[in-house]
Amino acid sequence: MIYCDYAASTPMDPQVVDAMLVVMRDVGVFGNPSSSHTYGRDAARLIEKVRQQVASLINANPNEIMLTSGATESINTAIKGVAVRQQTKGRHIVTTQVEHGAVLGTCQYLAKQGFEVTYLKPDRQGFINPTLVEQAIRDDTILVSIIHVNNETGAIQDINRIGGICRAKQIPFHVDAVQAIGKIPIDVANQNIDLLSMSAHKFYGPKGTGVLYVRCAPYVKLTPLLHGGGQEKGLRAGTSATHQIVGLGKAAELAQQYLATEPQRIRQLRDRLWQGIQQAVPAAKLNGDLSTMAPHILNVSLPGVDLAELAKYVAFSQGSACHSESQTASHVLTAMQIPLEQIYQSVRFSLGRFTTAAEIDQLISAIQMS
Ligand code: PLP
Repeated sequence: MIYCDYAASTPMDPQVVDAMLVVMRDVGVFGNPSSSHTYGRDAARLIEKVRQQVASLINANPNEIMLTSGATESINTAIKGVAVRQQTKGRHIVTTQVEHGAVLGTCQYLAKQGFEVTYLKPDRQGFINPTLVEQAIRDDTILVSIIHVNNETGAIQDINRIGGICRAKQIPFHVDAVQAIGKIPIDVANQNIDLLSMSAHKFYGPKGTGVLYVRCAPYVKLTPLLHGGGQEKGLRAGTSATHQIVGLGKAAELAQQYLATEPQRIRQLRDRLWQGIQQAVPAAKLNGDLSTMAPHILNVSLPGVDLAELAKYVAFSQGSACHSESQTASHVLTAMQIPLEQIYQSVRFSLGRFTTAAEIDQLISAIQMS
């Protein structure tokens, strides 16, 4: 079975596993990181190092790195946190029709509580025109939330321009960067990002841990989701999972190291795959625009290919992993006005650190035979 579903989850890098095992095996770092004795302080030191590793990856300050259980929690904290805290200023949120369910579900929940949400429409390539963001912002807008790299199509949004627009209007700007981390460079300082969500298991770290970057200057005020012991500067109560967090830090360090070379290698594999698909299935259609897509995702419609047969040999996604249990048409491809028939023939292949050229060739043969 060839694994082509890196956008759903990545295997842990062996160096991440090694870093976590040291924490789990070494009896010196089992202490509660909030305890003031040596055991606690040793664990807390490891966690502080992780904040530096993550901060370095996105050009933030370590004290702006809040550790969470993953992107879903980060996104909920960012959006609900701003909404609840800043509702006296206004109750309007701007986002897009092509967000992940974590953002859409949170916005739908808030809409039921009386907030108003504007969902911006993409063009046929899945791209959100930044001018639409500017036009959608009103006097009562309290947050703009935009996905950086789309998890279904790989479309990259113009975060630089949108960040500039939000900063000029002094509206907090949240970015769902789950599929962008380790694939394209991110600089929260220069891109005017105020809040940014990520999940370690999308960049070769463990599941169950993630980050919410929260800008300190100007400080973004949030109401916490979890109340209790006051961890994470009171923004996220609960004992920190030291071994998971250490894995996250190592994954962030590796992502930064590999950023100069890995995306280029993966892009070449992705291009080889698309060329092979076009030869194997001349009627294949690309959902998106290769020139503005992240390197690791290829969303294509494969008319005439028996997808159930292909699934015997290749692990891939129809739509996105988060939809695969429901048979509804992808909301992302629907928003891009792709015809329904093409949507139902569409698949997402996503490549990663351990994908080889030989696997790509096997995948093309499997498509040809299915
Ligand atoms: N945002 C995007 C773009 C994603 O791809 C995902 C997961 O697929 C999430 C958010 C949610 O991440 P998690 O399930 O790790 O919390």
